[in-house]
Amino acid sequence: MLDILQKLVEIPSVTEDYQHNHQAIEFIDGFLRSRGMHVKRLEFGGVESLIATTQRTKTPRVYLQAHVDVSPAPAGLYTVRQDKDKLYGRGVFDMKFAIATYLQLVDDLKDHLDRYDFGIMITSDEEYGGENGAQSLIANGYVPTKICVIPDGGDNWAIESFAKGLWFLRLTMPGTAAHGSRPWEGDSALEKLLLLIGELRQSFPHNSREERTMTVGVLHAGQSVNQIPAEASADIDIRTTTFAEHQEVFNLVTALCKKHGATMHVITKGTPCINDVDDPYYKLFIASIEATTKRPVSATMSFAGSDGRHFSEAGVLCAIVRPDGGGHHSDSEWISKEGFYQLLDVLRHYIDTATLKTAEPEHQRDYARTT
Ligand SMILES: [Zn+2]
Repeated sequence: MLDILQKLVEIPSVTEDYQHNHQAIEFIDGFLRSRGMHVKRLEFGGVESLIATTQRTKTPRVYLQAHVDVSPAPAGLYTVRQDKDKLYGRGVFDMKFAIATYLQLVDDLKDHLDRYDFGIMITSDEEYGGENGAQSLIANGYVPTKICVIPDGGDNWAIESFAKGLWFLRLTMPGTAAHGSRPWEGDSALEKLLLLIGELRQSFPHNSREERTMTVGVLHAGQSVNQIPAEASADIDIRTTTFAEHQEVFNLVTALCKKHGATMHVITKGTPCINDVDDPYYKLFIASIEATTKRPVSATMSFAGSDGRHFSEAGVLCAIVRPDGGGHHSDSEWISKEGFYQLLDVLRHYIDTATLKTAEPEHQRDYARTT
């Protein structure tokens, strides 16, 4: 499995480097096709994706999802290095390790694939938001009927039960320019915008980990000290905790803009990702982790969005969890060696308990012997 990871890491499939993402997807395609998976290639806006399923369907019970694109790195990082406990290299944690385990899983099951109902979904634009990858695949009907497994969040086998929603909004305020000595002739766009922001802030009193938050990341106004600005804009980052709150906050900003005479532009958005932890397929996944790691799984919340938000928006349950690792997007990206191999065991356990078309005792015995 390490050799598969090495092959994947060697391809510098940086987001928007279509040629290298193509090369990586070609490799995955060849591997899965030769072992009997039904492979389909798709392309939206120049971005390639791959779907591989055990049955001929767009909608298997379970999708194992991953993105093959990575963030840029110095040339020396496109090879897997290892020490006693860790593997290092670009993408070992975010998230080529997952693809390596998917391929190994299919290799292990290649003589029995028709007994299962699962699929593998590989995209190549997650680092840029997933619009042409996961979002377009979902829009074209590629969704699991039960659950999507995404090892691109969570923390050392703590499962991501919840991720906040987000709104990135640009508020633009018009005004009238005038000399700073004659404010009665002008109308300061900046001061009006600050009043709006101040009023908005009152609806975000705590900015705490558990609650909705709001921050102003960018403010543009004015050119010189003695001129009243004719235009001002603010880029605001809002995070929400429930579907109702997500819409409520949007309505609130819309109403405040109207009241203060500003316009609003949505830079990007994402609904909160709230998982039904009582769902049987979710519980089974947790059981598979616990059977492998021999310790209880805890829940964690997330503040950054993975492709999970697109599935969540489509009402698809997601299991977002991964082994120990860190340094993603940095030069010291790493994954725990033990965790890497544990993910294969977790997936094998899960595929056997959750996606067998019918319980087949003979095969179950095989499985018991090999583990
Ligand atoms: Zn990622």
